[in-house]
Amino acid sequence: MDEASTCQNNNGQDRTALNNTIEFYKHALNDHDRQEVLQVLHSLFLTTGAWVTEFEKAFAHYLNARYAVGVMSCTHALELCLRYFGIGAGDEVITTPLSFVATANAIEYVGAKPVFVDVEATTGNINVNLIEQAITKKTKAIIPVHLYGYMVDMQALRKLADAYNLIIIEDAAHCVEGVRDGIRVGQLAEAACFSFYATKNITSGEGGAITTNDTAMHAWLLQARSHGLSSNAAQRYTKKYEHYDQTFLGMKCNMSNIQAGLLLHQLERIEELWQERKSLWDYYERYLSGIQKPGFGNADKHAYHLYTLWAQDEQNRDALLADLYELNMRTAVHYNPIHLMSYYKNKYGYKRGDFPHAEAIGHTTITLPFYTKLTDQERHAIMRLLMSKDVYGKFTSNT
Ligand SMILES: *Cc1c(COP(=O)(O)O)cnc(C)c1O
Repeated sequence: MDEASTCQNNNGQDRTALNNTIEFYKHALNDHDRQEVLQVLHSLFLTTGAWVTEFEKAFAHYLNARYAVGVMSCTHALELCLRYFGIGAGDEVITTPLSFVATANAIEYVGAKPVFVDVEATTGNINVNLIEQAITKKTKAIIPVHLYGYMVDMQALRKLADAYNLIIIEDAAHCVEGVRDGIRVGQLAEAACFSFYATKNITSGEGGAITTNDTAMHAWLLQARSHGLSSNAAQRYTKKYEHYDQTFLGMKCNMSNIQAGLLLHQLERIEELWQERKSLWDYYERYLSGIQKPGFGNADKHAYHLYTLWAQDEQNRDALLADLYELNMRTAVHYNPIHLMSYYKNKYGYKRGDFPHAEAIGHTTITLPFYTKLTDQERHAIMRLLMSKDVYGKFTSNT
């Protein structure tokens, strides 16, 4: 009897709480990463300097991009890109309601209006076929999100954007590693934005980056992340004194050497980490094939960032969140739709029913612990918990 059927036999047994809490996420930092940060701490420049430059080169190389720019967060990255293209008051930017609020907030920060387009019922990604009818004379850009690590159809999106002369800024917070139709993240867009927030595939606690192939944009971003100054602190310090100038109003969101030091070796291990998450994904799939969840079709390579399942309805989903917490397993929700957040409801008058597929997913979805540090014991314990009858029964079955 294989493991899967052993677990199936637990169906109907009473659930028992785990002895030790299974955390929602644990980072995969190792001694190599810690040593690198220690070197930064013993060096002169804690802020933007040699480590950041090295990380940017390696990150751009990994993504087949010409340039990468390190910043404080993906939120800053998105805002900087919108500012570079002069997007602001009176402009509209099309994006998905099924994402973290940061995606839409960046559009708000520059004074533009986020225009939501409903998602595909299976993948949860923005439905490219519905975008055209949302385009107006005010539309300037599209921000697609590669939800959970599954890439949006960038070829179709590029074609549409070209037809209407629109900019594409990818929110690739979930998807550093993804490939679709042979295309990497960022390759068909003006820019792609990444997050190294605490729970992302590679992390510096807080952090982000932008990739672009545009030389002028790259030069602007380097200045714009530091107020719009003509040189950064390390550049100023290591050369004969020259006065700096501020040529435009930038932001203050430059990546530090401490963050870059943490990221450097994680980036070297990124394929190894991906492989480990893939095995975990396949393990979950073996047990959970009977439960409905997003369907991923055409990607050459899924980034395997978040593993989600669909409950029968909102009530059952919320019961699962509470029950699993009580049973000592930590879960999360990705995402309660942005248009139903009070801020967006109040400002734009959105209501339930406006984006039915985003709502159907957002109101029934639950995210499992999914990370390389999960021990074999924990993986098995998670499956046992989910297979216990009153837990399993709250999910939507495939049959
Ligand atoms: C995490 C996340 C962000 C924000 O990233 P920060 O680095 O925390 O600003 C944006 N979009 C998506 C889809 C995310 O998951």
